[in-house]
Amino acid sequence: MPTDDLPTSAGGHCCWRPVWQDGDRCVWHTECAGKSVEALTARGNPGRRLDGAILTDVDGLSEVPLSGTTLANATLSGADLRGVRLRDVDLRGATLERVDLRDSDLSGGTVQLRYADLSAARLRHADLSNVDLRFATLRNADLVRASLVGAKASGTTLTAATVISTRLAGATLRNADLSDALLRRARLANAQLRGATLSGADCYEADLSDADLQKAVLEDARLRGTDLTGSDLTDATLENADARGVDLSGATLTRTVLTRANLFDADLSGTTVYGAVFVDAKINDRTEFGFDRGSTTSLSDATLTDLDRLGWRYRIIERLSRQNALPEQARRAYRRRKAVRRRRHRKKWAVAKWTGATLSGGVMRYGEGPWRVLGVSAVVVLAGAILYPLSPGESLYVSLVSFLDPLAAARELPAWARYVAAVQSLAGVLLIALLVFVFGRRSTY
Ligand SMILES: [Zn+2]
Repeated sequence: MPTDDLPTSAGGHCCWRPVWQDGDRCVWHTECAGKSVEALTARGNPGRRLDGAILTDVDGLSEVPLSGTTLANATLSGADLRGVRLRDVDLRGATLERVDLRDSDLSGGTVQLRYADLSAARLRHADLSNVDLRFATLRNADLVRASLVGAKASGTTLTAATVISTRLAGATLRNADLSDALLRRARLANAQLRGATLSGADCYEADLSDADLQKAVLEDARLRGTDLTGSDLTDATLENADARGVDLSGATLTRTVLTRANLFDADLSGTTVYGAVFVDAKINDRTEFGFDRGSTTSLSDATLTDLDRLGWRYRIIERLSRQNALPEQARRAYRRRKAVRRRRHRKKWAVAKWTGATLSGGVMRYGEGPWRVLGVSAVVVLAGAILYPLSPGESLYVSLVSFLDPLAAARELPAWARYVAAVQSLAGVLLIALLVFVFGRRSTY
C-alpha cells in the first residue's frame, strides 16, 4: 500500500492483522464489499490505524468504534453511517460516495475530510462544524439543515448539492464550486466565498450578509429575496441574475458586472457602484437607490475621489432610470450629478466652469426647470418695473414690453433708462431661448 501521503502521527504504516479466511489480507483490507460488522469486530479492538481500509457497502458501521482512528484513503462508499460518531477521525482522501451520514456527528474541528469524495452523500442534520473539507467533493450531496459553521471548505465541489437551510456562517468556501446548488435559506453570513462559483445556484432568501464574494461568479443565479447587505461583490459577475427583491444595501459593487440582471424591488441604497456595469439591467419604481440617505458624506466635505464616485453613482441611476421608463427619477439623478460636477469645479478652482454650472443650475436647474426660467423672467420684469421712473402701473407695462423689444417704449424714457430697457431685452431674448431649450430637452426623455 502506498504510504507517502498518510498521516504520520499514530505509529507505523504496515498492517499487522492476521489474514482473513483464505486471502492474503486482513479483514479490513481485503477487497470484498459488504463485510459484516461481526467479522470486523471479531478480534476485538482493531487499533487506530485503519488507513486504506475497504468498507464498501458495510451496514451498521455505527457499532464499530471508529472515533480517534485514521481512515486515510479508505473506501467507505455506500456504507451506512447513520448517527455514527466520527469525532477525531482522519478521513483525508477517503472515498465516501453515497454514504449515509444522516444525523452523524463529525464536529470537533479535528475530523479530516480533505480530498474526500462525498458525492451524493446524505448529510441531513449532520454536524460538520469546523470540519476540514478542503478540496472534498460533495457533488449532489444532501446537506439539508446540516451545520457547517466555521467549516474549512476552500476548493470544495458542491455542484448541484442541496444546501437548504444549512448553517454555513463564517465558513471558508474560497474558490468553491456551488454551481446549480440549492442554497435556499442557507445561512452564509460572513462566509468567505472569494472566487466561488454560484452560477445557476438558487439562493432564495439565503443570508449572505457581510459575505466576501469578491470575484465570485453568480451568472444566472437566482437571488430572489437574498440578503446581501454589506457584502463585498468587488469584481463579481451577476450577469443575467434574477435578483428581484435582493437586499444589497451597503454592499460593495466596485466593478461588479450586472448585465441583464433583474433588479425589480431590489434595495441598492448605500451601495458603492464605482466601475460597475449595469448594461440592460432591469429596475422598476420600487428599486431603491436610497437617494436621500445614499450619500453619507455631504458634498461640502467630500474629496475629489468621493465626488467622482458619487457622480458615477448618479450617472448609473440616471441611465438605468431612463432605460426603464422612469423619467422623474432620471431627472433627479441628472440634477444630482450636475450638482456634484459643480462642486468638483469648485474644488479644482475651475472658475469659468463653476460660474457656468452655477448659472445653469440657478436659472434653469441644469436644463430641467421651465418654471425656474419663467420665475427668473418674472424677477427681471419686476426689477425693471421698480427701476423705471414712471407711475407703478405704467412702469410695469413698460418693463414687460421692454423685456421683448428695447425700442418699444424708448420715446417715453430718459436716456439712462433706455440702457435698462436694452439690458432687459437682452435678458428677455436669452430667457425665451432657454425656455424653448428646456421644453425641447424635457420632451426628448
Ligand atoms: Zn490489513
